[in-house]
Amino acid sequence: MLVQRLPGEDDDSDAWNRAEILSDTITPRELIELSVPEILQRLFHEEDIRLFDPTPFRFHCTCSDERIRDMLRSLGSEEVHDILAEQGQVEVSCDFCGKPYRYDAVDVEQLFLADGSPPTSTTRQ
Ligand SMILES: [Zn+2]
Repeated sequence: MLVQRLPGEDDDSDAWNRAEILSDTITPRELIELSVPEILQRLFHEEDIRLFDPTPFRFHCTCSDERIRDMLRSLGSEEVHDILAEQGQVEVSCDFCGKPYRYDAVDVEQLFLADGSPPTSTTRQ
């Protein structure tokens, strides 16, 4: 259970103190077995309780192949080719979701072509 004090008017200077003390009285078993309204009622039945509708949330990362390619372009051709020479490929993991992106020599060559078109067979090594 997370108890958070929100900013706002504080016409009841002891309210937070009470909330902390009452929160500490909940047992692990009650947290598992009771519903949220029951827990609130049990702990804070003397307080003015408002229960907001739950908002579903999901994790969504906005990373994409194109974004990673832009990031590699911003590193510069020399840096990216150094990594390629050192590791045989360029591997980037998204800092947020951990999704791996891998680029081989052909991908790297394509990254730094001025027009962004796929390399022709004569430029491939
Ligand atoms: Zn991501």
